Amino acid sequence: MNTQCSAIVAEASGGPEVLSLREVTIPEAGPGEVLFKVAAAGVNFIETYQRSGVYPATFPFTPGTEAAGTVVAVGDGVTDFSVGDQVATAEGRGTYAQYAIVEAHKALHVPAAIPLDIAAALPLQGMSAHYLMNSSYHVEPGQTVLLHAGAGGVGLLLTQMLKEREARVITTVSTDEKEELSRVAGADDVLRYEDFAQAVQELTCGDGVDVVFDGVGKDTFDGSLASLRTRGTLVLFGGASGQVPPFDLQRLNSGGSLSIIRPKLGDYLLNVKERRWRASEVFNAVAEGNLTARIGARFPLSKAGAAHTALESRSTTGKVILEP
Ligand code: NDP
Repeated sequence: MNTQCSAIVAEASGGPEVLSLREVTIPEAGPGEVLFKVAAAGVNFIETYQRSGVYPATFPFTPGTEAAGTVVAVGDGVTDFSVGDQVATAEGRGTYAQYAIVEAHKALHVPAAIPLDIAAALPLQGMSAHYLMNSSYHVEPGQTVLLHAGAGGVGLLLTQMLKEREARVITTVSTDEKEELSRVAGADDVLRYEDFAQAVQELTCGDGVDVVFDGVGKDTFDGSLASLRTRGTLVLFGGASGQVPPFDLQRLNSGGSLSIIRPKLGDYLLNVKERRWRASEVFNAVAEGNLTARIGARFPLSKAGAAHTALESRSTTGKVILEP
């Protein structure tokens, strides 16, 4: 096998221009690891935070944790994956590349019914949607939910899963195109961000919603709190518009005994059993036609910087993938 492959390298923190295509040595599968040929890699907001320095990273590095592809080698001690298997992960290493490594216990078997580009679109946002509505807050049938960025990657998946749960779903979006996508995904009411908290109060006859899922962060935080019913919960899971600054806990008291949780996916994939439970529910829903993953944009590997620009400029819908 050729020992070289193409990979994206982030040389230093900065804008999307710091991502460049390089020839690198194909990594070797160490004990307990799987080497796979990447068919498609998922692009996620966290990689923009790492590239720009919002989250810590050691440079130079190859970004990316999410991908799907075909196993080409397994390390010592790997028993549940073989060469030729189709594999996906949200927790690989350096997936913006033609070849990537994942520890076997973090690898997921891809059902034969799911094409690899769709499989690459599911692990991170799909398992996130799953833990958000099942574990960080358990949504019950009949509850009312506010979900920001309803046409985004997490947004479209979570909307469908919430409707399957028989929740009432109110979303926010920024454009007509995104509104249409959010409605097709099942949203009952689709709002624009301007004065959304007031619109939520009107839609709920002044009660407010049971839970807000907020991945937008800085720009929506205050309105999200103002949208909650007494004893409601804000699940703050991201900061697409910027991170929320330090905040006075007393506001939870005056707002009506509110709760806030600031979860991250890794803490909801604590072991193989939990990871495979979430992944199998997501993959099975797709295989059975009950959940649709929308790939809104595809970029060749060499255009990883353009993929980051698209994500950060909020021009994307659904999933963004890189195809080596
Ligand atoms: P999206 O596909 O939802 O893209 C982000 C969307 O946020 C945009 O399309 C845009 O939709 C909206 N947005 C609002 N304001 C801004 C802004 N100023 N700049 C950019 N976007 C903005 O991304 P993901 O589904 O991948 O992720 C959503 C959020 O969830 C991110 O913050 C991400 O970091 C976080 N996340 C957190 C996880 C966790 O476990 N904690 C796991 C997965 C994701 P619109 O134009 O409609 O407003």
